[in-house]
Amino acid sequence: MDYANSLLDLIGNTPLVKLNASLDAVGTTGPLVLAKVEYLNPGGSVKDRIATRMIEAAEASGALKPGGTIVEPTSGNTGVGLAMVAQQKGYHCVFVCPDKVSEDKRNVLKAYGAEVVVCPTAVAPEHPDSYYNVSDRLASQPGAWKPDQYSNPHNPRSHYETTGPEIWRQTDGKITHFVAGVGTGGTISGIGRYLKEQNPAVQVVGADPEGSVYSGGTGRPYLVEGVGEDFWPETYDRAIADRIIEVSDADSFAFTRRLAREDALLVGGSSGMAAYAAKQLAEELAAEGRTDAVIVVLLPDSGRGYLTKVFNDEWLASYGFPTGSEEAAEKTVGE
Ligand code: PMP
Repeated sequence: MDYANSLLDLIGNTPLVKLNASLDAVGTTGPLVLAKVEYLNPGGSVKDRIATRMIEAAEASGALKPGGTIVEPTSGNTGVGLAMVAQQKGYHCVFVCPDKVSEDKRNVLKAYGAEVVVCPTAVAPEHPDSYYNVSDRLASQPGAWKPDQYSNPHNPRSHYETTGPEIWRQTDGKITHFVAGVGTGGTISGIGRYLKEQNPAVQVVGADPEGSVYSGGTGRPYLVEGVGEDFWPETYDRAIADRIIEVSDADSFAFTRRLAREDALLVGGSSGMAAYAAKQLAEELAAEGRTDAVIVVLLPDSGRGYLTKVFNDEWLASYGFPTGSEEAAEKTVGE
């Protein structure tokens, strides 16, 4: 019989798949662009990896005791990863999120058995009910532990120990370029460090929304979720990325939709952003005659969580973005 003892044993070892049609001509002439499909993790995103590693490290250090409570201000993928791992290991989870977070996202966390505390957005940070104050107060209760993915060294370490070695093995050490979006910076810092240790010639390229600090911005608003910051987190190692490619929201969203429609990869906007940067890089390398390059781009999560946003024509149009779905739009029978 072939089975896993727990869902936790199924985290990682995600596949690499070649990008084809969405790359246009460069998809057939080379370089080879391979996507690391992280939505195939059991919690649906790359964040399962950091959740496991951060929790195991806290157990080992004694910061998290049996039956303890995990408190983190998150409503996204990290929350799902933590909720899943916590449930399997018998911990309670409390997530603090601002009231602008959609009910769907809160319900996902609750479905895993987590508690969700919603804080008003319309109060100042120093207000006792603010997102920051509530999470600090909950995290200071006896038995509580706050992973803090923005400063926890086990976030980048999980990628150094798992994702990096997987990519190296899966490409037989032939990878020449690694591309990833940057949020906490854990993914790019951990994987990039591992790959450079194997071969210092590997180029590490960050993809970043226009406006974010990583590409020299001031934190100006952008719509792609999960990437870009308005501050420099401790989990981001500034020595790793050789280059940052800035991608506009419009290009990120248009390419996210192309990945679904042309390469059957239903992924989130940060995946579209990273893959767009990878395509740009592939075209540059092709122009230099480097068609033998091997680019790996990491796709963090699934498009299922964004059906009412990136994949919704009205939502895109409300921000003035082209939808690109005119030719493939629903046709009324008889038209
Ligand atoms: N994409 C999505 C959807 C994410 O949730 C995150 C994590 N914030 C990232 C990309 C960026 O990953 P990292 O935090 O490791 O830089």
